[in-house]
Amino acid sequence: MNFNHLLPRNELISKCVADKHYFLPTSHIEATLGYIAVRFRCKNCNRLATVFLSEEEYRINENIIKKFGEIK
Ligand SMILES: [Zn+2]
Repeated sequence: MNFNHLLPRNELISKCVADKHYFLPTSHIEATLGYIAVRFRCKNCNRLATVFLSEEEYRINENIIKKFGEIK
């Protein structure tokens, strides 16, 4: 499962120990005003990236985020 479409471009093009980042959601999910903040971690280099999704975007991706967010 590739979540790169949810990550901001500047995160995707930053340096990774591998060819490129492979971001997976963590279980760190926080609701803020009108937005859901989901923390992603690159499984190659452990880089953390917080992604702010609108409630609608989150709803669309909720199932896969929760499914993969359980992987530690
Ligand atoms: Zn990486």
